[in-house]
Amino acid sequence: MNKFFTETLLDWNNNENTRSMPWKGEKDPYRIWLSEIILQQTRVEQGWTYYEKFILNYPTVQDLAAAPEEAVFRLWQGLGYYARCKNMLAAAKQIVSMHHGHFPNTYDAIQSLKGIGPYTSAAIASFAFNLPHAVLDGNVFRVLSRFFDIDTPIDTTAGKKQFTQLAQELLPHGQSASYNQSIMDFGAVVCKPQQPACKSCPLSKKCKAYQQGLTSLLPVKSKKLVIRKRYFYYLVVQHQDNIYIRKRTENDIWQNLHEFILLETTAPEDPATLQASTAFKDIMKDIRYNIDGTSAPLKQQLTHQTIYSQFLLLSVNEKPELPGYTAVPKEQLDHYAFPKTITDFLKNRELTLF
Ligand code: SF4
Repeated sequence: MNKFFTETLLDWNNNENTRSMPWKGEKDPYRIWLSEIILQQTRVEQGWTYYEKFILNYPTVQDLAAAPEEAVFRLWQGLGYYARCKNMLAAAKQIVSMHHGHFPNTYDAIQSLKGIGPYTSAAIASFAFNLPHAVLDGNVFRVLSRFFDIDTPIDTTAGKKQFTQLAQELLPHGQSASYNQSIMDFGAVVCKPQQPACKSCPLSKKCKAYQQGLTSLLPVKSKKLVIRKRYFYYLVVQHQDNIYIRKRTENDIWQNLHEFILLETTAPEDPATLQASTAFKDIMKDIRYNIDGTSAPLKQQLTHQTIYSQFLLLSVNEKPELPGYTAVPKEQLDHYAFPKTITDFLKNRELTLF
């Protein structure tokens, strides 16, 4: 059963796998790492252009480690999950300071880098150095749970242990790189989450889920995702040609990105109620302002949160006292990294209201 599974996957990879990606077959651990970090929580089609931009701007890990933080964040803009970018920069600096700029070549040393977990470490160790470490990502969980009919929830400690052990047992000697690539690609293009191509699947004759009609029930997850709704109201305060912004530093989404003055509520508010709120008065105090416009609400879906944003355009005649905020000339706003929702707003015609 195990032999059939691994050999069939390797054959499929050699003869039928046409999935192309710019980093495929890559042996440079820096490039593999970049692609893996970019692809966490990002679709391949979207990640592809970012990967190419990063390679072009920072061809080596030394280049990345020496880059100004703001420039790296700007390049990352639009990918979301900015903690990834922050950790990536920290890891690049670790490689330069602790490993003399050479990417570490053991599983444990790779995993000790900031932002690298067991999956990424196994991917780099196997793809770059052909070390015997099995990767376990969503695709692998799915293929294994279906073929072997395992219904242990994949998001539990017991599930992770069971699948890790099985994945490791299946790893063919000396072929870690091609086998890991095979199973991940197979999960992405054949054993897909919805409508897997079972009829033409080379594993189907021994696939337990297919034989028993259980494909749509596997893999099993124990938890349901709880999505939190948040309502962001941005006060875009303009004095002469300047707009007031600040860097987000709280332990929250979009850390290190910039934003306008933010009022957050737990339910939708209309602009009049917002202006009467204590939070609004605490910020604007006795600053005299005109409301020049209100944007349409924008929605951004994150994995665990839905962010509804609206922008209120405020102009003031006298230089306002806004502690913590910096006045930035309008035409220089694109020098700063913003969350997608603000970038979309800035690209939008509503800025012409200024
Ligand atoms: S037969 Fe279907 S469920 Fe089984 S491995 Fe192939 S694609 Fe996946």
